[in-house]
Amino acid sequence: MISDLVIIGGGASGFMGAITAINSGLRSVVILEGTSKVLEKVRISGGGRCNLTNACWDISDLVNNYPRGEKQLIGLFNRFSTTEAFKWFQEKGLNLKVEKDGRIFPCSDSSEDVIKCLTDLAKKSGVKVVTNSHVKNISITNRGFNLLVKGKEHFEAKNILICTGGHPSGRRLAKSLGHSIIHPVPSLFSFSTSQKSLNSCSGITLDVQIKLIVNNKKYVGTGPILITHKGFSGPVILRLSAFSARSLYSNKYNGQLIINWLCLGENEVRSKLDLFKKENGKKFLFNNKPFRTLPRSLWNALLLSVKIDSNLKWADLTKRDKEIILKCLTNNSYLINSRGPFGEEFVTAGGVSLKEINFKTMESRICKGLFFAGEVLDIDGITGGFNFQHCWTSGWVAGNSVVLK
Ligand SMILES: Cc1cc2nc3c(=O)[nH]c(=O)nc-3n(C[C@H](O)[C@H](O)[C@H](O)COP(=O)(O)OP(=O)(O)OC[C@H]3O[C@@H](n4cnc5c(N)ncnc54)[C@H](O)[C@@H]3O)c2cc1C
Repeated sequence: MISDLVIIGGGASGFMGAITAINSGLRSVVILEGTSKVLEKVRISGGGRCNLTNACWDISDLVNNYPRGEKQLIGLFNRFSTTEAFKWFQEKGLNLKVEKDGRIFPCSDSSEDVIKCLTDLAKKSGVKVVTNSHVKNISITNRGFNLLVKGKEHFEAKNILICTGGHPSGRRLAKSLGHSIIHPVPSLFSFSTSQKSLNSCSGITLDVQIKLIVNNKKYVGTGPILITHKGFSGPVILRLSAFSARSLYSNKYNGQLIINWLCLGENEVRSKLDLFKKENGKKFLFNNKPFRTLPRSLWNALLLSVKIDSNLKWADLTKRDKEIILKCLTNNSYLINSRGPFGEEFVTAGGVSLKEINFKTMESRICKGLFFAGEVLDIDGITGGFNFQHCWTSGWVAGNSVVLK
């Protein structure tokens, strides 16, 4: 029997595509999942809580969270954005909550409830889910497509939707059907440095301004940084890693990171140092810091890194040393020499070239009846629920478009 739609990949975008398509009128929708379990990434996401979208409701702000796909997502979000995703899940009985930083989670704090919501809906709507069905090959027939499944029979489909995430097999299948692939590289990682001066500060988090220079290209960011035992992580670093993912990859993960630990201008910091010196001349530099936001151990590590004598009193601070400290606080430079471990989230930058997709429908411009959704495309977001949001959106648009054909 030939199915109206076969979806390759039982992840977030595959389930959204399947549920939308069948509820919009398609009669036979099948999900072929290569492994023994569907929605495995949803299960492990957000530390087991699943950060499924973000309370960034304004589309022009929302697209700024996507280093790749920003332009194409404008049209897609105009049809199904964070507002619609929030409503969609709530209406399907999954209660959601918005955290202070805008991230949205199920009220239960359990990704299992997201899985239950999606699998129950798929079952109730009549979507057929077949696990352990890794699609190895797709050929075009006069009726549509023939899919060869490892160790199993062939599946026939009038339309197919590729939702294979960052898995290389999906890119291979797309390539075999004529699509160009933008070389995949990792996104959302921490930075490592061989400079050891902040080793004692591992675990500290604070708001900073940073600048990353890779091959003369400059990337800037403001927000929380986490000092790790190997370098730097935290939201501001992960965001920068996403925007600089390609440059860093081609430069073998070498770059210069410049940190302003105080988020203040040089003149303001200089005045604060001068005033503190005037009022605290008899006190030791190491025990007495002029900046409330700077943790003591970091202040001391920074002073040591520029070779300030640990017995120095404020009154004895020379103009030259004051300028050295000033530079260290506002323009502190580190050579990044490798990619550190991934944070909680990891996505692939790269995938099926966006030029070959019709973003009104998510259909291929090259092969009629072939659709794409989710991470298999050259679209990715920063942490905060933006990656799932683009899966819900592209899955929903693709699911609706197959029906309208
Ligand atoms: C640890 C971790 C935590 C994350 N946390 C979050 C978070 O909290 N919020 C957020 O927004 N994003 C998060 N992400 C990113 C998010 O999980 C992905 O962007 C998202 O899952 C991509 O969905 P997808 O449907 O495109 O692909 P996937 O979820 O990867 O699903 C693809 C499916 O296709 C199957 N498949 C692949 N090839 C074949 C084939 N040839 N035949 C059959 N099946 C195949 C795979 O087995 C898989 O089940 C996280 C990622 C990781 C790794």
